[in-house]
Amino acid sequence: MPARSLVFAAVGLAGLLVAVPAATANDPCPSDAFMDVSDSPGAGEGYPRPRLEVECDGDELVVSSNAIPHYEFVQITPNPLVELDRDYRMPLNPKLAEQPSPLPLLGPSGVAINGIPLFGPNEGPVPRPGFGDPIYNAIMDSCMGHTARQYHYHALIETCFNIAREANEPSPILAFGWDGFPVYGPFGCRDEECSEIVEFKSSWEQLRAPRIDAWDAYRFVPKEGAEYLDRCNGHSGDDQGGAYHYHATATWPYIMGCFSGTPSADAGRESDRQISRRDGGRGRPPGDDPRPTVEQVKRAAAKLAIEEGDLADALRLTGGRVAPMNYAAAARALGIEARDLYEALGVTAQLPPPGARGGPGGRGRGAGPPRQGGRPRGPRPQGPRPRQ
Ligand SMILES: [Zn+2]
Ligand SMILES: [Zn+2]
Repeated sequence: MPARSLVFAAVGLAGLLVAVPAATANDPCPSDAFMDVSDSPGAGEGYPRPRLEVECDGDELVVSSNAIPHYEFVQITPNPLVELDRDYRMPLNPKLAEQPSPLPLLGPSGVAINGIPLFGPNEGPVPRPGFGDPIYNAIMDSCMGHTARQYHYHALIETCFNIAREANEPSPILAFGWDGFPVYGPFGCRDEECSEIVEFKSSWEQLRAPRIDAWDAYRFVPKEGAEYLDRCNGHSGDDQGGAYHYHATATWPYIMGCFSGTPSADAGRESDRQISRRDGGRGRPPGDDPRPTVEQVKRAAAKLAIEEGDLADALRLTGGRVAPMNYAAAARALGIEARDLYEALGVTAQLPPPGARGGPGGRGRGAGPPRQGGRPRGPRPQGPRPRQ
């Protein structure tokens, strides 16, 4: 099988690519921030070896991986661990956009230093109607990863990247967002002199149990203090000489809350193409609510006897969320049943089947990868646990 041999050969080369960054004077290639996964234990027997190659191509950082973890895979969600080869392209010189932009409601928003994609801080419609906080809902493994279409992270745990950080050291880079800005671990220098190591904190507050509609269960409330991050979970902090970057945090949104820069169009296109192939061309992951068309909103407003503008507003603006499509929250904002809104808009695919019980078929937690500290201290699950 020549194709497979090539993949294995590439795994061997990964370390080489990482060790020799293709740097230019102005654009140092951050390839050495990534792991060499070629000699890692891998996901376990019967799974493909993890593959990760990193290089800089012109003004882009290119991360090529197969989304297989470098540590033992412990199944939490019903989806199998599958190999998904992708090239992720990000700007090498990220710039702040005029306005932050929303993360994809589902699908990758960045890539970790081991080649595993990052998803935003909400899950799909599990439990239905959906978009709850998957960490609150306890459907993550001990590295805050799990499978859907592919293995992905909703939070980042330093020790899962073989990082043995001393208490007086700042966290290294753990990931990059699609906008090219790096995501550091939670700890960093208070000032340029590094007089003290501080834990950077999310400024989002939890309003209620985020079992569903995480984007409405949390609200961004700006806070005083250099350790508090912006809406996107980043800052232009003194810890990195004023250069903008994100931090992974112990609480929601855990990694990023939005894009402060401009996400690479390539990164999104890549994932759409991959997913549509696996879905027989439907073009989006299941549960990623399609945005209604103007026509749909018009018809639905007439059906529901509400102002078209009110419906459009409710679909866009509910609570503190940044933007993902969230019909359940919109229905709440309008004071109507989610079911009525779904039906009026013709998005019946989102309706829970009669008598459906929410939650994935979790299999409980296994031994899994190392877990010494660093686990997000987010809200502990209190609500109904996913089906065991
Ligand atoms: Zn997920
Ligand atoms: Zn910082």
